[in-house]
Amino acid sequence: MNDVIDIAIIGAGASGLMLGALVGEGRALIFEGNSKVGAKLLISGGGKCNLTNAEVEAMHFRGNPYFVDEVLRLFDQYDLLKWLKSEGLEPVLRKKRQYFCPKSASQIVTILKKKSQKQSLMLNDPITEIVKRGEYFYLKTARKSYRANRVVIASGGLSFPLLGASDFGHRAAESFGHTIIRTAPALVGLTLQKEQFFFKELSGIATEVEIKVGEHLCAGSLLFAHKGISGPAVLDASLYWEKGKIEIDFLPQWQPEEHQDSSKLLSSVLPLPKRVSKAFLAALEIADRPINQLKSDEKKRLLSLKRYLLAPAGTFGYSKAEVTRGGVDTDEIDSKTMMSKKCDGLYFVGEVVDVTGRLGGYNFQWAFSSAYVCAKALEGGG
Ligand SMILES: Cc1cc2nc3c(=O)[nH]c(=O)nc-3n(C[C@H](O)[C@H](O)[C@H](O)COP(=O)(O)OP(=O)(O)OC[C@H]3O[C@@H](n4cnc5c(N)ncnc54)[C@H](O)[C@@H]3O)c2cc1C
Repeated sequence: MNDVIDIAIIGAGASGLMLGALVGEGRALIFEGNSKVGAKLLISGGGKCNLTNAEVEAMHFRGNPYFVDEVLRLFDQYDLLKWLKSEGLEPVLRKKRQYFCPKSASQIVTILKKKSQKQSLMLNDPITEIVKRGEYFYLKTARKSYRANRVVIASGGLSFPLLGASDFGHRAAESFGHTIIRTAPALVGLTLQKEQFFFKELSGIATEVEIKVGEHLCAGSLLFAHKGISGPAVLDASLYWEKGKIEIDFLPQWQPEEHQDSSKLLSSVLPLPKRVSKAFLAALEIADRPINQLKSDEKKRLLSLKRYLLAPAGTFGYSKAEVTRGGVDTDEIDSKTMMSKKCDGLYFVGEVVDVTGRLGGYNFQWAFSSAYVCAKALEGGG
């Protein structure tokens, strides 16, 4: 067994790399199971990486809002943008509030790699076990054993197993007595039941909608996909959907009273892509006639498009989900340090924690904010 590592960081994704960048030179050894670092960063945001958002509040996350707020208060989107600027990266605003890398996601990976180069890095050798005996942690890989003063679990969630995702973080947390809040794929498409099988014919078409899931409203585009429904509004809704029905307004801009006297054909007036109008009119048994000639029961059925109830059969699963919701219970982590309340010297950052952001750059902000808080604690000897 080698000398004692001061800080063992497990995972070289967004949070692990940020941590490696922020702690003092040579203090950490970063372990990464993949053959390269930052695999998810590189493919994120359609290859441009949605780094953060102009508005970042606890309400944009699923998780304990007080915990999230305390962490964000120490490193928010302004701090992140300032840090990136000091490293020569000025993200650009797209889709109103989302900050992306100006050219490509490799820009952020290059910065994180450069800044974390001061630490040692072990690639291609995932950690398989951590135990604590006395004051030291003992870590094992398939090839070697290590001893460390402190361990930070930055191994992410279960989404995209092809990119190295593993349940290691959750298993390790449990072995130290932590509770894992039930995990599920999130920011993911939803599959359909028989009643909506006609959606399949619309595969590839997108339309603007508003989706209500409990008290949450998710607005944006819905994409009809071969396997079900996807697109930004659906991904957002999947963060909150557990079971039961969601309510979709397929006509968010449509005020029926404005059109009731119109002599135009219904399908030509409905603010929906033509094929979508036709499919819904057929499914709802509404004749495509001039609006002022619609029968009253047809008008009623038409209005159901503003409150279309749909009970998803499930999700597209972890292989397609951008994130994993659930994870290490935040009641058992100190929000000022990200240290476990169950085991001194053990820390959790990033997606492995039970904090999951909505679509829009919130998950990277969380990865970076939690890594910052942890780095400050480690630097201060916390
Ligand atoms: C397709 C896609 C697009 C996305 N786009 C965005 C976006 O634009 N904006 C946004 O905010 N979020 C986005 N996300 C979510 C975001 O990528 C994650 O929330 C974020 O990467 C989490 O950071 P992390 O450091 O916790 O985990 P990760 O970045 O997943 O890093 C964890 C690392 O740990 C390694 N690891 C796992 N187990 C072990 C082990 N036992 N030993 C050693 N290493 C291990 C993994 O290989 C991985 O490299 C996207 C996700 C996906 C899948």
